[in-house]
Amino acid sequence: GWRRFASASDLVDVQLGKEISKVHTGLFINGSFVKSASGKTFKTFNPANGEVIAEVQEGDKADIEAAVKTAKATYENVWSKVEGAERGRLLWRLADLMERDIKKLAALEALDNGKTAAVAEAGDLRLAIDCLKYYAGWADKIEGKVNMDKSTYMNYTRHEPIGVVGQIIPWNFPILMFAWKLGPALACGNVTIVKPSEKTPLTALAIAAPVKEAGIPDGVVNVVPGYGPTAGAALTAHPDVHKIAFTGSTRAGRIVMEGAAKSNLKKVSLELGGKSPAIVFDDADIDQAVNWCKVGIFFNHGQTCCASSRVFVHESIKDKFLAAYKKAAESIKLGDQFDPTTDQGPQIDETQLNTILSYIEHGKQEGATLVTGGKRAGTKGYFVEPTILADVKDTAKIWQEEIFGPVVAVSTFKTEEEVLKRANDSNYGLAASLFTKDLNRAVRVSNKLQAGTVWVNCHNVFDQNTPFGGYKESGFGRELGEYALELYTQVKTVKINLGQ
Ligand code: NAD
Repeated sequence: GWRRFASASDLVDVQLGKEISKVHTGLFINGSFVKSASGKTFKTFNPANGEVIAEVQEGDKADIEAAVKTAKATYENVWSKVEGAERGRLLWRLADLMERDIKKLAALEALDNGKTAAVAEAGDLRLAIDCLKYYAGWADKIEGKVNMDKSTYMNYTRHEPIGVVGQIIPWNFPILMFAWKLGPALACGNVTIVKPSEKTPLTALAIAAPVKEAGIPDGVVNVVPGYGPTAGAALTAHPDVHKIAFTGSTRAGRIVMEGAAKSNLKKVSLELGGKSPAIVFDDADIDQAVNWCKVGIFFNHGQTCCASSRVFVHESIKDKFLAAYKKAAESIKLGDQFDPTTDQGPQIDETQLNTILSYIEHGKQEGATLVTGGKRAGTKGYFVEPTILADVKDTAKIWQEEIFGPVVAVSTFKTEEEVLKRANDSNYGLAASLFTKDLNRAVRVSNKLQAGTVWVNCHNVFDQNTPFGGYKESGFGRELGEYALELYTQVKTVKINLGQ
């Protein structure tokens, strides 16, 4: 009874770099690409020039309803009977198909998001494939414990799947966030409804095709693009969804948690925003610190939840550090996502462009010194110059709020005690980094930083095998590593009477 496409296909032609490629635009429900129940569509844009890439079916409450219904039936009748080893094989096959299609997926990610095709391939896709393979390995190792402390009872625990889960992802790493969510959910035996961001719906739909080709049963993975307050809210409120995994802003994370509380108290995990500090001590290798503080804020055009957006530099090395940091920022080449010489593409959209520019103006008004950048680059597309603002006060808005652009605020400090206090003085606690050659100091300071990840002499380094998540208002729950299995399982105790 699904609404079919007139031409029997939802594929449309899209210019991907130099090539024309076919791209899916339908909702992916029960293994088919279908139209939205309302008949509504929305447009997705290339942020390098503002041109429409494609019109995508707009999922809403009725489509979420349909996807949950099919997911629930699939869980009960099909997926709950599939053994771990087979789930692992299917995930691995999906990863292999993504490897086969890596160039096309990377190009589509670049087109829809604005990151360069080279980075999408070597970074996002590589990490996503490794993540799926990592969780493929876990699929037959989801196990409980046995306790036989009392001779009269045998106790054991089972780590059972939750069943139908909802997964809401943002636009900054669309494929990677999809993989972080899909890998552990499927490995643990759940079925899922994924809601990609309305700003970047295309790659989640592009991966739906290999999901089917890999042999993952219809209805196990459903992808419903749409807006947050409609499709996202419907998923959050649904009584047959028992877990919601959300990555996005702290603002929307609060709404998701309220929605979960008001419906069926579904389990919630939240990966939210940040204002992560990078601390450069006076004994740091300055070139190394500059290099990682460049990666820390300018990687992905500053659209990274754990970006090193607050840099503390010891007052004795301020001038040397800032001179090198300025040079590093000015070496970044802005341009089209498909030009192999481009380092930094456009920001995601016009709204973000204007938000970032207004933060920069605000920073200057509050007394910050503009070291470099500070302006929009060009007149077409949403490019922002890599921007460094120094002498930023702890009370300034640009010091406290997440900007989500290529803008870093720098301040100086005198003592370790002082910098720890100021670094921790934030509502967020996603990540932090510190730069020093003193091992004792590295461990001492790491222990005291209030952050889910602390990087020593590096920043923004991810691995599928180490957990990632927030302290404080950056969220809770840990994705990646063995820890993510806890998000997608529930523990059952079985007690067997041995003859009382
Ligand atoms: P966003 O919160 O606007 O949107 C994220 C997703 O939530 C989108 O799919 C959106 O449609 C959906 N959404 C919005 N309102 C909703 C609602 N009321 N109910 C249900 N769903 C809703 O965030 P964004 O602008 O896409 O992403 C940027 C933010 O995400 C930044 O704050 C960034 O720090 C954060 N982020 C965090 C992590 C992490 O792992 N901690 C990773 C990436 C991004």
